[in-house]
Amino acid sequence: NTFAEIDLGDALNKNIRRCKYVKPTPVQRYAIPISLANRDLMACAQTGSGKTAAFCFPIISGIMTGQFPPRAPHMSRTACPLALILSPTRELSIQIHNEARKFAYQTGVKVVVAYGGAPINQQLRELERGVDILVATPGRLVDLLERARVSLQMIKYLALDEADRMLDMGFEPQIRNIVQQMDMPPPGVRQTMLFSATFPKEIQRLASDFLAGYIFLAV
Ligand code: AMP
Repeated sequence: NTFAEIDLGDALNKNIRRCKYVKPTPVQRYAIPISLANRDLMACAQTGSGKTAAFCFPIISGIMTGQFPPRAPHMSRTACPLALILSPTRELSIQIHNEARKFAYQTGVKVVVAYGGAPINQQLRELERGVDILVATPGRLVDLLERARVSLQMIKYLALDEADRMLDMGFEPQIRNIVQQMDMPPPGVRQTMLFSATFPKEIQRLASDFLAGYIFLAV
């Protein structure tokens, strides 16, 4: 019933204390151990449930403890993130980025955000400095992929936040295009977390297409 009981490591636990999170919310209590056990997850969770930490903590922990081939951002203009967090809007992406940066403080894990409706140049410069976790809106990410400024071949963790809202906004073709470009399809090494406030037919279809043997969580 405490974060210390969940095996997230010292650096992350320190950041959790810095954020003044005392005990995990229900979605965190169940989702984090499932993700740490490398299982795919479909979670019904509302805004305010603490879902951002629920998908960020296992991603940061996994990147800190995992073995990944070296990536040399200075050798190439193509950024190769290890984790991708897709979110429907610029506002939500900024919010996730701000939280993820606090959680990743002094861990060496680099978080970058890219969203539409803003000049791309600053985002390109950030990406060139290296990225472990990319937070992005679907349209801007497709743009970056078409420019070959991002590659998804190294993605180990994929989180889709507010998936129902992304479908309502018409992002399904972009999302399918994005997921197709990941080299590690289920049931391989890629680990996928799908978060949605509702669970209609369209979300069930995404879950069965993108997740492998997933655990369904409703809190
Ligand atoms: P979210 O649902 O991820 O948007 O989180 C809603 C709000 O709850 C954010 O302001 C978080 O910083 C905060 N929060 C998330 N997890 C916890 C926790 N375990 N304890 C206290 N506050 C939290």
